Amino acid sequence: MMAMSLLARRNFFGTVRNAVAAGGILGQFRSLGAAPATTVERGEDYYDKLGVTKIINAAGTYTALTASIMPPSVQAAVARAAEHPVRLGDLQKAAGEYLAGKLKCEAAIVTAGAASGLTLGTAGCVTVANKCGIRDIPNEVSHLKNEVVIQKGHRYGYDQALFCCGVRMVEVETIEEYDKAFSDRTVMAHFYNAAEQGQIGREDWIRVAHAHGVPCFNDAAADVPPISNLWNYTQMGFDLVTFSGGKGIRGPQNAGLLLGRKDLIAAAAASNNPFDGVGRGMKVAKEQIVGMVAAVDWFLSQSDESLEKEFRRRADRIAAHLKDLPSIETEVSIPPVANHVPHLLIRYSRDRLKISARDVMMELRRGTPSIELNPSTGSARGASAGITTGVNTIVVGVWMLQPGEDMIVARRLHEVLAKSAHA
Ligand SMILES: *Cc1c(COP(=O)(O)O)cnc(C)c1O
Repeated sequence: MMAMSLLARRNFFGTVRNAVAAGGILGQFRSLGAAPATTVERGEDYYDKLGVTKIINAAGTYTALTASIMPPSVQAAVARAAEHPVRLGDLQKAAGEYLAGKLKCEAAIVTAGAASGLTLGTAGCVTVANKCGIRDIPNEVSHLKNEVVIQKGHRYGYDQALFCCGVRMVEVETIEEYDKAFSDRTVMAHFYNAAEQGQIGREDWIRVAHAHGVPCFNDAAADVPPISNLWNYTQMGFDLVTFSGGKGIRGPQNAGLLLGRKDLIAAAAASNNPFDGVGRGMKVAKEQIVGMVAAVDWFLSQSDESLEKEFRRRADRIAAHLKDLPSIETEVSIPPVANHVPHLLIRYSRDRLKISARDVMMELRRGTPSIELNPSTGSARGASAGITTGVNTIVVGVWMLQPGEDMIVARRLHEVLAKSAHA
């Protein structure tokens, strides 16, 4: 009996695994019109059940658009990890050591995203600098060493992830100011890798901080590809570097990487779940820890050249489909640091196509299937996140499209723009 039930159990898990793996791959071809697998094989569609609209992501790895889709190998690893309990500490330790080896740094932890990486890394710097306990964060920190030095042009929305450790920011602009900003209260120097402002470069930033014996943190959340950025910044000398797991690496959206110096990573891990520090609410479940590791494996198996080639092919296919429309001009543009992949820019004359780029975006959003274009579409600000846009510019982020979706986007764009030519 025992043996029988064990065998049955194995078969059951084997079936689930294969179905999940197949589901991931079939899912890729859903939009190509392949017959869908049955509900039993793939699990119930809870987006349908809940009435949540599935979208085509022609925007990019935006958090509010659920960032990315995990590749089939990552989906399968997540599903498989869900089949067994493990000791969380064992998994965190083994995942960290594996990632540190693959990513050529001293130590690593899987965090609940880059924002959580910022909090945990800052917590590590605070506890190391003060030799204080994790429970001193945040309430006691105002009486302790609590200063983070940052360039004025690097202040951003993610500051809050540092502030929840009770620190305060000391802003600098010139390198002289920077050198003078260090005091016996400094715990960390913070750098925003994709900042479009700020006159102090990475190497100078690290050199001066280290001259004062202060650790340097680099937020590079959205800054892969290139794949080598996963080790470039730690090898350059940053003591801590964080990446978002759900952006270019295409891991689970609630996962991220914190990489760096062994003592700081150990201190950051001390504030992490399951301990009762500032990271207690930033839990990464076993499925997502495994998913993050599997995503790194997937990402390292890619090449910058083949990724870029595929994204250019998608952009070119969409551009070719629109070329008969009056006044259309297209360009492929690669932002310099964050989201460093080909984006398609579509420009036109409002005299010939009587619709604003914002209205094109709205129409695609309202259509079926619902399509999200890059939010810099039709922006009056001129340039944002390294993309030069304008009121008559449509921006298509092609890198998060699933196979076959580029032509769905192309046909919808053509339909909406062609209609406006006769308006
Ligand atoms: C996206 C992003 C984050 C937050 O990343 P999550 O993984 O969503 O927590 C932090 N910093 C920068 C610069 C980002 O682009």
